Amino acid sequence: MQSSGSFPHILVLFLSTNVALAQISTAPEGRANRYLESIRRQPSLVLAFLREMPKGGDLHNHLGGSIYAEELIDYAVRDNLCLDQSTRTVVPGPCESCGKQASKPAVECGYRDPELYNSMIDAWSMRNWHPGQESGHDHFFASFSKFGLAMRKHTAEAIAAAMERAAADHLEYVELMHTFGGSAAAEVGARTGWNPDFAVMREQFLGGGIKEVVAAARQELDSNEHAIQEKLACQNPARPPACQVGVRYLYQVQRGLPPPQVFAQILTGFELASVDPRVTGLNLVMPEDFYVPMHDFHLHMKMLDFLHSIYPNVHISLHAGELAMGLVPPEGLGFHIRESIELGHAERIGHGVDVMNEGKPLELLKEMARRNVLVEICLTSNDVILGVRGDEHPFPIYRKYGVPVALATDDEGVSRSDMTHEYLRAAKTYGLSYLDLKGMARESLEHGFLPGASFWADIIAKRPVGACLSDRSESSGGLSVACRRFLQTSEKARLEWKLEQDFSTFEKRF
Ligand SMILES: [Zn+2]
Repeated sequence: MQSSGSFPHILVLFLSTNVALAQISTAPEGRANRYLESIRRQPSLVLAFLREMPKGGDLHNHLGGSIYAEELIDYAVRDNLCLDQSTRTVVPGPCESCGKQASKPAVECGYRDPELYNSMIDAWSMRNWHPGQESGHDHFFASFSKFGLAMRKHTAEAIAAAMERAAADHLEYVELMHTFGGSAAAEVGARTGWNPDFAVMREQFLGGGIKEVVAAARQELDSNEHAIQEKLACQNPARPPACQVGVRYLYQVQRGLPPPQVFAQILTGFELASVDPRVTGLNLVMPEDFYVPMHDFHLHMKMLDFLHSIYPNVHISLHAGELAMGLVPPEGLGFHIRESIELGHAERIGHGVDVMNEGKPLELLKEMARRNVLVEICLTSNDVILGVRGDEHPFPIYRKYGVPVALATDDEGVSRSDMTHEYLRAAKTYGLSYLDLKGMARESLEHGFLPGASFWADIIAKRPVGACLSDRSESSGGLSVACRRFLQTSEKARLEWKLEQDFSTFEKRF
């Protein structure tokens, strides 16, 4: 590690050269980069480095999968819920009294029974999952219905927990996927029924209850916001780090439901995101390999295409290509990513693991780079669910073809991971440098669905917009008037500027 003593010298040199393009001083980042190379063979030191490194945004984070089982147990205990011992599923009371013979003990019994406690954690997450004996895919997806009841009344607490974890990972921003109103939108779809004319169906659904579902979702957002502020003590003048994490939501559509329900949820996502700035877009979730998402894939994309034409400003990110050879027939691997972009209007793709099985994959990669479609890379999730890791993962191919990428956690609670470990995995497996990781952190905010113009005129060349060309993140002085004015107009740029400042603070240590 080098001392920071050379920093003023570098700054003087920098000022004297007066090169307009080199707005972000490269000297401290060079030292941070060299430090990471010097410790690369000592994973414990790499972990400590990456823990503290600013990481931008987590763009792919399901609220329902973000909570660790230990916290879910606490939720269930507070709600006096029980455990069905045969399936390790949380069920409503009344519960049987604690004891080895109980088939439906209170979840609380786990506090005094290590075997019971451990069995819940193992069933509700990938902890102690045994590859070879059990499918990671099945164990992973089965866990959600097992702990689902424990989550039901604790949305605000779960969001607060996700914010605290994001702050601990030094993230500036997180986009959480959540189905506001639970099954309410789907119920409108089921009740109102299918109409092959999407325009007519939209009107019928809006009149049949979707407007009310959206209004209730906004109330839910209000009350969550209030509860989160209280839980995290955000009124405290010291403002805990979790309160400083930017949060936005994506409405989560359950694409394994029948068509009317899926249409109703997609419509709800578009409606909600067009009236409430806290919800910036939508995403389609549930196992992509299941019968309905495979069978109805094209239909879902047509729904998105139609509704996108009515709500063009609502952002769309889509799970696509969370598939692998053998999981579905080969022809099922061939088109989901391309169709999500070309017909579903996805600005970002979640996973994109099977991209090399798509028709004309190299052309698709070039198209993604040209259209600036970012791939949310979920390395741990892809390993445990799909068994895809190392050089079988297309992550380096996306980078090679200039497709923007950002690391994401997917379901950090169920996967027993966090963003720091996603960075660690990327750095170790793919030999990424600090500069590579820093570039991905920048891309994550650049592709976050935040309102406003970007801080960057050219993110690759690291050239800020004209208003901020003379402002340097490591400078202790104030911003120029022009840059301050610009940042006031854009939440995205403000967060990107904060990231630059956080990088600067981090890099000064080296
Ligand atoms: Zn996901």
